[in-house]
Amino acid sequence: MSVTKRLIEAPAVIAVGANLGDRRATLLAAVRELASTDGVTVTAISAALETPALRPEGVDPDAPAYLNAVVLVTTTRTPDDLLTVLNAIEQAHGRVRAERWGDRTLDLDIVDFAGITSSSERLTLPHPRAFERDFVLTPWLEVDPQAELPGHGSVAALVAAMHAREKDR
Ligand code: ATP
Ligand code: MG
Ligand code: MG
Repeated sequence: MSVTKRLIEAPAVIAVGANLGDRRATLLAAVRELASTDGVTVTAISAALETPALRPEGVDPDAPAYLNAVVLVTTTRTPDDLLTVLNAIEQAHGRVRAERWGDRTLDLDIVDFAGITSSSERLTLPHPRAFERDFVLTPWLEVDPQAELPGHGSVAALVAAMHAREKDR
């Protein structure tokens, strides 16, 4: 029996993003691959949202824009094992990691795994930057209006606060 598998299904939230190539086709293929992965069931897919590229120094209007979405799954895999699955799907779509937040064919991040808060060299839960990312929170809210981001409260409140700040600017 594999030690990476559990009998109980846990809910997880996955952020999907692409800003190179045929973005929509890549996102759809990634979701299909996720859905056909042993021990992973896709339960919801948000609409895709187009957002400008973000660099460490801020928004870059000259870089190719992103298509982002959020996928809800239930899984019998461990968080670490799920990340391995996501990395393999990224690799299959030609993901190259050169510079931080560089252009990419596909990015798959674990936003939340069963409300767990934990940190290792390889995996931080929840995703440490999800709370400030409209392109994660808005599609997540769409597929789960009751969503909670551990340590940050309700996703609905986070989105409302973010949009109120944008209006004030
Ligand atoms: P960001 O994390 O800000 O969205 P990114 O997705 O471009 O940036 P990557 O190059 O995909 O960053 O991943 C960098 C590292 O982040 C990877 O080595 C991965 O192990 C680690 N990591 C830590 N926590 C998570 C998480 N919750 N989901 C995905 N990767 C994570
Ligand atoms: Mg990312
Ligand atoms: Mg990533």
